[in-house]
Amino acid sequence: MWTPEQIEAIPQRLLEWYKGNARPMPWHGNADPYHLLVAATMLQQTQVETVLPYLQRFLQRFPTISDLAQADEEEVLRYWAGLGYYTRARNLHRAAQQILRRHNGSVPCRADALSRLPGVGEYTAGAVVSIACGKPEPALDSNSYRILARLLAFEGDILLTSSRRLLGEACRQILPEHAPGEFNQALMDLGALVCTARAPRCLICPLAGECRAFQQGRQNELPVRPPRRATEKVHDVCVVIEHRHRWLMVKRMDGQLWRGLWEFPRVRVMEGETLEQAAQRAANMVGVQLDGWEPAATVRHGLMHYSVTLHALRTRLHEQPPPAGEAIRWVTAQEAKRLPLPSPMRRLLNKL
Ligand code: SF4
Repeated sequence: MWTPEQIEAIPQRLLEWYKGNARPMPWHGNADPYHLLVAATMLQQTQVETVLPYLQRFLQRFPTISDLAQADEEEVLRYWAGLGYYTRARNLHRAAQQILRRHNGSVPCRADALSRLPGVGEYTAGAVVSIACGKPEPALDSNSYRILARLLAFEGDILLTSSRRLLGEACRQILPEHAPGEFNQALMDLGALVCTARAPRCLICPLAGECRAFQQGRQNELPVRPPRRATEKVHDVCVVIEHRHRWLMVKRMDGQLWRGLWEFPRVRVMEGETLEQAAQRAANMVGVQLDGWEPAATVRHGLMHYSVTLHALRTRLHEQPPPAGEAIRWVTAQEAKRLPLPSPMRRLLNKL
């Protein structure tokens, strides 16, 4: 896979480059395993620039494992709201509870023990043990996989588990024992700053001399990109039901997506259905019969391969309101903003 020259030169050049080009991160100089666990979990599907302000707020509120483990899930979700992929937050919360119970509140510095925690995969476990504990484990994010694929002129689809396993093994062969955390971060930073997805800056790259894709003039073709699923346009409707200056909000109990977050009753508009008919279906979920409505606001957002237009219709309730319960709350506008909300719902609230 690697030539002996690559095995020697890649870590050396990469670490040298990293000394002068590392992106500043809050854990530099003080890498606490718990902080790394939170950071790596947030970074699983979100970019660094987006994560940093959330990370700071989250760690201010939950500075230790035990603070996080003892918080209630709704509060954890509230501090996560806006980052998306909320399963990560629920798993992190459960992982903190398990660490408190099984590891006396100390994040274990072993990849195998970490990997048994909810939501902790190879990347997260590798980041914690290499950066916070100095152990030689790869921590490969999408940037790192891309660089490795280019260095090796790897022809496979890097999203496949089988490809990732091969590239992970390749990484182990060049991972320096004396600086595994710096090496892993250097790969991520090089991918973010130099070996970017669309226009790699090979002429200023410290690894250009060792890079097979560059030598073959294929840096823009590799790694191969599987065809993308076409975006589908859909419309959703939610009903803003008002009663005595309060709004009815419901907690999502279903599926993984947004479970535990709050929103106005919401449905997807079916083919041939009007917005009002869809709104009535949404109102039916809470046992309300619509008696007139007016358009209130519209927001657009992406969700997986969907481009969603969310229409909010406002209605005033004159009949007996449905009672509050575990999944139904009547809230003022201020209270609504303090609930954990999916980002499109938060944008909608700001418009109302
Ligand atoms: S030479 Fe180009 S393609 Fe190769 S690692 Fe550097 S930036 Fe990426």
